[in-house]
Amino acid sequence: MTVAHNFPLLGEPLALDLVNTCVRRDHADVDLLGSPAALAAWLHLESARLAWSGPVSHADLRAVQGLRTALATLLDARREGTRPPTAALRKLNAALAAPAATARLMWTAAGPKLVQPTAASRREVLLHALAADAVSVLTGPSAAQLRVCAHPDCVLQFVARNPRRRWCSAAVCGNRARVARHYQRQRTDS
Ligand SMILES: [Zn+2]
Repeated sequence: MTVAHNFPLLGEPLALDLVNTCVRRDHADVDLLGSPAALAAWLHLESARLAWSGPVSHADLRAVQGLRTALATLLDARREGTRPPTAALRKLNAALAAPAATARLMWTAAGPKLVQPTAASRREVLLHALAADAVSVLTGPSAAQLRVCAHPDCVLQFVARNPRRRWCSAAVCGNRARVARHYQRQRTDS
């Protein structure tokens, strides 16, 4: 089930993995998180870094997509050295302000009892984790290394820990560019 969605997980921070669920395929924008099932598959792939259990609803999907749009705007602003629209900043801060508690201990007449988080609080915890990661990316040492893949038909973002890195993946976009240059040379030679 995870193979079908084909998420480009490049070993990047969570916030970049999230914005990288919007990709370009054959010159068209594609949202890899197009359904609750797709979001469930992504959460499963990120389960080492994101706590999530239970089903994914349409409301969960809309909330994650909304935060993703804000994150993309903030990351663009950081890379381009501009000021982002207030709405994007407000969206991120709303996610940060959400309570982070996942479960509660209740004491009933019968004794102590674990109360599992509600669907709404599960979602808030998820958004909080994604927003907190975005803050560390935007304000930490990787902020100056944020880049978009150099291939004209690719929008994937990464942290260029190696300053010479130009491609999201040398095997994919680096290779695509090499092949294009090769054909270009053949055309000019003949
Ligand atoms: Zn690329």
